[in-house]
Amino acid sequence: MSVYAPATRLTTHEVINQPGEFGGRNLYTTDLVLREASLREGGNSLEAPLAALGELVGSERVLDLGAQANRQLPELTTFDRYGRRIDEVRFHPAYHELMRLAMEHGIHDLPWRAQEPSSHVAHAAMLALFTQAEAGTMCPINMTYAVVPALRAGGEVGAPWLAKLVGGRYDAPLAPLAQKRGITMGMAMTEKQGGSDVRANTTRAHRLEGSGSHAYRLVGHKWFCSAPMSDGFLTLAYADRGLSCFLVPRITPAGERNTIAIMRLKDKLGNKSNASSEIEYHDTYAELLGEEGRGVNVIIEMVHHTRLGTIAGTIGMMRMALAQAVHHASGRSAFQKKLIDQPVMRAVLADLALEYEAAALLTMRVARAFDGRDESQRAFARLAVAASKYWLTKRNPNFVYECMECLGGAGYVEESPLPRLFRESPLNAIWEGSGNVIALDILRTLTREPAAVTAYAAELELAYGAHRVFDQSAVAFLDELARAPIAEAEARACAERLALLLQASLVIRHTPSAVADAFVATRIAGQGRQTFGTLPRAVDVSAILARQAAC
Ligand SMILES: Cc1cc2nc3c(=O)[nH]c(=O)nc-3n(C[C@H](O)[C@H](O)[C@H](O)COP(=O)(O)OP(=O)(O)OC[C@H]3O[C@@H](n4cnc5c(N)ncnc54)[C@H](O)[C@@H]3O)c2cc1C
Repeated sequence: MSVYAPATRLTTHEVINQPGEFGGRNLYTTDLVLREASLREGGNSLEAPLAALGELVGSERVLDLGAQANRQLPELTTFDRYGRRIDEVRFHPAYHELMRLAMEHGIHDLPWRAQEPSSHVAHAAMLALFTQAEAGTMCPINMTYAVVPALRAGGEVGAPWLAKLVGGRYDAPLAPLAQKRGITMGMAMTEKQGGSDVRANTTRAHRLEGSGSHAYRLVGHKWFCSAPMSDGFLTLAYADRGLSCFLVPRITPAGERNTIAIMRLKDKLGNKSNASSEIEYHDTYAELLGEEGRGVNVIIEMVHHTRLGTIAGTIGMMRMALAQAVHHASGRSAFQKKLIDQPVMRAVLADLALEYEAAALLTMRVARAFDGRDESQRAFARLAVAASKYWLTKRNPNFVYECMECLGGAGYVEESPLPRLFRESPLNAIWEGSGNVIALDILRTLTREPAAVTAYAAELELAYGAHRVFDQSAVAFLDELARAPIAEAEARACAERLALLLQASLVIRHTPSAVADAFVATRIAGQGRQTFGTLPRAVDVSAILARQAAC
């Protein structure tokens, strides 16, 4: 956007009753909810780095980079001009610049670098902020962050990769590991005949005799492999002793292009800036991470950590959609009133604000559990991140759609960020454990990890005494969990209640009574209806909306 104001006096009419520019704002300092939650869970030292990132990602320049990276899509170049295979994906410069900025701010490695107690909270808040400008780049950033526990479990195989990842900067061109200033990582688990059920994998791993005890060659395929220009990938394949986890470098230790054939790029609904590919392993060089037959145990740690990114990304999308809706409603009038002063619009926006606030509180609390050093917090994190992923990602598409409608026709037009957000909104529910799979995962944790249930119950109890309906619902639910294992068919209902009660306990403790009362009434006591904007009369809409005033 130029420094000169756009012309409003056109030949046939004057442009009036349109909101001002959205960009050029600090996405962190204007978000009271995220700010309060981040500082509470992570401490005041987060203020400066989050404010710096908020300023950057809310600038016209970076918002525009986000739009460009999704308009000029990545392209696969399979062969060079002489017919030799190169299997490279070319990205628009905006994508590279966004990756550079994200890594410069340490979104990919903060928790592993800082050794500070609140670094997962910082990571999650940063990922939420960056997503507001651009979501696709957060896929490789999230995978690069999440791969670290698996690399650590990989001993001498993982060590040189860790050395480049932690503290590394974005360094896009392909090069041997030793020459890189920083690396990005991907993962390839999903195959055509089975994604959630990774034991259905058919890719085979064969020991390479005489090339060191960790060296293998892989033969097979992967049906989804995002960010295929990453420097290395965690992948699953069957070795003699069972399903095993391997690290596949793009460039082999001998300095050659590894034989990862990129067959084609997926034509996706959204997430356009990020390339997702189908690949084949043609005797591809790989190194074993951990022990043969223990592949799921190694890679599951990566999946656990990527789940934190799925909820942080989700609140990022919710926040940007809500901020756009409030901004528009504040700058446009209909029927003699600003939209934001029309009673039904106020009810819609207040209901959306409630939803966002509870989602942000939950995400930041879960992020703190990732920072926890004791077993109880780790167990809580396993249960809570799964329940949060289930619930927040289920709510997100409808949330974004409702925000889009607040803009009327302008929300449906590609110049607005709403269509891009809407296309992106279902994705976090699908990867890293689709809805049913994650709900079943929750049931397994409930039966196998009593420490997780104890920690969850303790978290709910912290809010007891303020809302009778909440207390009764929480006690009844905890009784149910204690009585008998939940049936598979009830897994979704269980996941939903887990998440909602956790949200309620946080909202009761940490938000003004107007927010807490409305949340409990509509989400726990059942006074809410099926669409946003159907709040009961007693709800203090003005008090809830006041928390969005900076939009
Ligand atoms: C944009 C995008 C990028 C991706 N990038 C990657 C990547 O980089 N690396 C990678 O490995 N994968 C990637 N994936 C794949 C993704 O992780 C899988 O699509 C996902 O895990 C689901 O696997 P699937 O597609 O095989 O579905 P399936 O496993 O066939 O599942 C289909 C449906 O059945 C449900 N289901 C499965 N099991 C059960 C059960 N026991 N009971 C009830 N319901 C069940 C699932 O919840 C789902 O709704 C990507 C996907 C997308 C969309």
